[in-house]
Amino acid sequence: MVSEHKTADVSFESLLRIFTVPEGPDSTLTKIDEELSRNLNKFLREHIVAEEKPLREIEKDFSNAAIPEQPEFVSDHTQHLLDTLVSHSVHTSAPSFIGHMTSALPYFLMPLSKIMIALNQNLVKIETSKAFTPLERQVLGMLHRLIYHRDDAFYSQWMHSANHSLGAFCSGGTIANITALWVARNNALRATGDFKGVEKEGLFKAMKHYGYEGLAVLVSERGHYSLKKAADVLGIGQEGLVAIKTGSDNRICPKALKQKITELKAQNIKPFAVIGVAGTTETGSIDPLEEMAQICAEEDCHFHIDAAWGGATLMSNNYRHLLQGVELADSVTIDAHKQLYIPMGAGMVLFKNPDAMKSIEHHAQYILRKGSKDLGSHTLEGSRSGMAMLVYAAMHIISRPGYELLIDQSIEKAKYFASLITQQDDFELVSEPELCLLTYRYIPAHVRQSLEQANAKQKAELNELLNDLTKFIQKRQRETGKSFVSRTRLNPNQWDRLNTIVFRVVLANPLTGRDILSTVLEEQREIAQTAPNLMARIEKLVKQINA
Ligand SMILES: *Cc1c(COP(=O)(O)O)cnc(C)c1O
Repeated sequence: MVSEHKTADVSFESLLRIFTVPEGPDSTLTKIDEELSRNLNKFLREHIVAEEKPLREIEKDFSNAAIPEQPEFVSDHTQHLLDTLVSHSVHTSAPSFIGHMTSALPYFLMPLSKIMIALNQNLVKIETSKAFTPLERQVLGMLHRLIYHRDDAFYSQWMHSANHSLGAFCSGGTIANITALWVARNNALRATGDFKGVEKEGLFKAMKHYGYEGLAVLVSERGHYSLKKAADVLGIGQEGLVAIKTGSDNRICPKALKQKITELKAQNIKPFAVIGVAGTTETGSIDPLEEMAQICAEEDCHFHIDAAWGGATLMSNNYRHLLQGVELADSVTIDAHKQLYIPMGAGMVLFKNPDAMKSIEHHAQYILRKGSKDLGSHTLEGSRSGMAMLVYAAMHIISRPGYELLIDQSIEKAKYFASLITQQDDFELVSEPELCLLTYRYIPAHVRQSLEQANAKQKAELNELLNDLTKFIQKRQRETGKSFVSRTRLNPNQWDRLNTIVFRVVLANPLTGRDILSTVLEEQREIAQTAPNLMARIEKLVKQINA
């Protein structure tokens, strides 16, 4: 196990060493460690190989289910990891990797995360996380203030109060959304009379007590799939998550929302929560939050905002207005591992009212005692790492104006890319960027003209071929490994809401230069020409339409 030994052996003495002293200065692991600290991007560039190895091949390296009987030297195993795992990892911080919300990280988070791991604090209870508990509460306070703008007195009263909570730090937006809906559900089905509350008596008795036929949560059709999971685990059922249609701008139609609430109520179904999305995953759109808040107030619904991705925009004084109305929400989800540039495993949910989380409070005998400051009494998760430390550090090191610059340059880059796409006569911008996310597709000008003139059947047929072409280009581009955009399916109004496959681009990586964006288009144009069969079928149909 330890490199100084001639052969790897299993002895208690060598086991003790792995808990105490590290390997010698020239071990493989130490060298990697140094490389990582000296130049993170160089490390990634050098160790991730460019060409794509088929997944099936990679699976062969990970196909033995037996736990090794023979120990390995740390250095030998590190080399093994470099060869099999690191080399075929996805280079998510590459400047041309512009397809997903996962991007580059500031270098200082690597060494800092080592301190976090070395300390191994468990944030579930104060007995294993003194200092980290107040730090996490402060981080929650910072995000709360970013959203709700309360004054100093508010935070000095509530931030560290044992019996209150401004929110919960968790592993990501999914858990944050589940937590928000959990709180909303329990508050909607709270104890009254001799009913002890849904958390004690369960959903079945709660429904009988309140006389409801069902529960519903309403969100736009662009809502994130995590909400379906939330509806499932909370006993509402996936069908209880009601999708409301969006307009041409991919934002929820408030009228349709209002109408659906009335319909549900008439069926004796309780719409206990409405979710506004601030930055949809597919198009980056922001719902009309103020109008939604108004409807929620009238209808007595919990108003949750899923700002997992878009919430970081609040850091920018220049673009914060895009989320106008966010401060009216009862709860807000923000992922720090998206546009706050923290490594994965950092989500948060914030509640306007420091009392709101009482409805999910849990206590146990040996920890989480009543009146303790244990964070675990208000979190869905149990044992949790000190990730909040990285958010805290980034807030100080980057600072609010630093984040503002990052957010602004992302949005401006997206606007630039959108204009670049519109200038090309063989590309079509499908959704305008509200934040730094946009969608588009490849469609030569004459094909586009025919699509406009086609009858319904031809239109559907041609659109299907274009979908195949988009899929082909996206896949081929990913495989050649030079750049990566993702793809999704939308129903744009301009094409009669036909299923339309589009390229999806997220421009959050500050290392992505404008030159890369033109290259991406150039590459896609070239790849299209390598699909002669598809192109021929498209041309044939175009001729028919024009005839
Ligand atoms: C990313 C995202 C989520 C889910 O967050 P995870 O951190 O992946 O669990 C939820 N909602 C929206 C809008 C998101 O962008």
